[in-house]
Amino acid sequence: MPQTIVAQATATGLAGLTVIRISGDDAFMIADKCFRGKKKIADAKSHTILYGDFVDFSKCHTELDDVEIIDDVTVSIFKAPNSYTGENTVEFGSHGGNVIPMKIIQTLLKAGCKHAEPGEFTRRAFINKKINLVQAEAVIDIIHSISLPTARTSARQMRGGITQELENLRKKLIDFASMLELELDFADENIDLISNSELLHCLENAISLCKNLSNSYQTSNILREGFFVAIVGKPNAGKSTLFNSLLNKERAIVSEIAGTTRDYITEYLIINDIPLKLIDTAGLRETLDTVEIAGIKFAQNTLEQANLILFLNDISLGENFSDELFYEITNRYPNSDFLLVQNKCDLLNTVGAYSICPLNKKSEYNSPIHNETENTIYISAKNTNDLELLKKRIGEFAKKATENTNDILLNERQYFKLLEIEKSLLSAKTLLLETTNSEIIPTEIIAIEIRNAGRLLGELTGETWNEEVLNSIFSRFCIGK
Ligand code: GDP
Repeated sequence: MPQTIVAQATATGLAGLTVIRISGDDAFMIADKCFRGKKKIADAKSHTILYGDFVDFSKCHTELDDVEIIDDVTVSIFKAPNSYTGENTVEFGSHGGNVIPMKIIQTLLKAGCKHAEPGEFTRRAFINKKINLVQAEAVIDIIHSISLPTARTSARQMRGGITQELENLRKKLIDFASMLELELDFADENIDLISNSELLHCLENAISLCKNLSNSYQTSNILREGFFVAIVGKPNAGKSTLFNSLLNKERAIVSEIAGTTRDYITEYLIINDIPLKLIDTAGLRETLDTVEIAGIKFAQNTLEQANLILFLNDISLGENFSDELFYEITNRYPNSDFLLVQNKCDLLNTVGAYSICPLNKKSEYNSPIHNETENTIYISAKNTNDLELLKKRIGEFAKKATENTNDILLNERQYFKLLEIEKSLLSAKTLLLETTNSEIIPTEIIAIEIRNAGRLLGELTGETWNEEVLNSIFSRFCIGK
């Protein structure tokens, strides 16, 4: 029988209220030791709230002794199995801060609880079959969500629609594998328990479900970590200025001396409800300065992961001034979207710069956006209106990249598991088609592949699990969840 656990469910620090949760068979008995109210917790109905004093029971030896009151508390009561963990659960609502919650937890430890491990409440919910593994993983994402769409998708995942679908598929595959195995036992009698076309139909549906889900991995990453926008360009193109203006604050160092952004700087910003991770990279150029070389190397690694690359050119030096670098980068990172940002258009009004600007752009600065193409925009990083247009354009790219959402925020474990499942299903399908064509029946091998896909699906949803996988998943949780 697992011991009753305790942890603070709300964040520590200064706060009006704090929730301290205990869960386990002895939760009511332990909580009653520390509670003085009109009613005993053990006698209260599930899903009710009591009010009373939380006391340090260890200081009173008889019923008549004065007790040390630690705080006045509310007590929410959840009786097994109707609680988050599936166990008896009590939630004390006390005053917040650093002192009272700690004292309450210490008293509950003395009364017989043990400290909860990170994620132990959710782990128990999983063990007690209140949620499956994919739902448990959604809990982490909900807590860590950086935007509303992230939280919404995690919430849908937690409600479990998609995992129910995966679970049904697993059962169906296992049934089919069993039928095929049974057919083998009666091979001499030539009994067909399942037709090839029925099996093919099931495999095709399963493959398309897995493909559909695994295709949303990139979107999931964007929702979880942000749409990754890298700002690149030659030194002095105005990257740091743009970075600061987009964020509306002085974060990156702006300087007239080339090569000032020696490191990279990351900040989040939300456009159209989508979190953007904005990265200002070191100027891309040949340099002998080792610190700067490290920065440039980073810039190159960053570009590999970027969803959108904002390539800045200083138009006052010519519209084609950075062409060589631009083409080199677009060729090197063919998977990223690019937006060519012609910056410093305000300088086109000044005599010197205006004269180097190509003729067709000379009228541009007053209405620079007129000549833009889908992948080019004319701005001045110092002009607020231009920035709004640029943000709108970035927002469109981000929206397009996050259209492909499902009811699941796929993580790495789930993604690779889905690829494995897809591989087994595809190979079963290929074998099945070969069977139909050649009349040779490798039923046994098809059954093995299908059973394998079913087993992997079980690992995905947590129907089958091992300690190592659980430890790695729940160690990512915070204490108290
Ligand atoms: P980085 O090296 O690409 O990060 O360039 P910075 O942001 O440090 O900018 C280099 C210089 O260009 C600074 O003096 C900025 O004030 C200036 N600058 C940046 N954007 C603009 C712009 O849109 N118009 C004008 N006139 N100057 C700009």
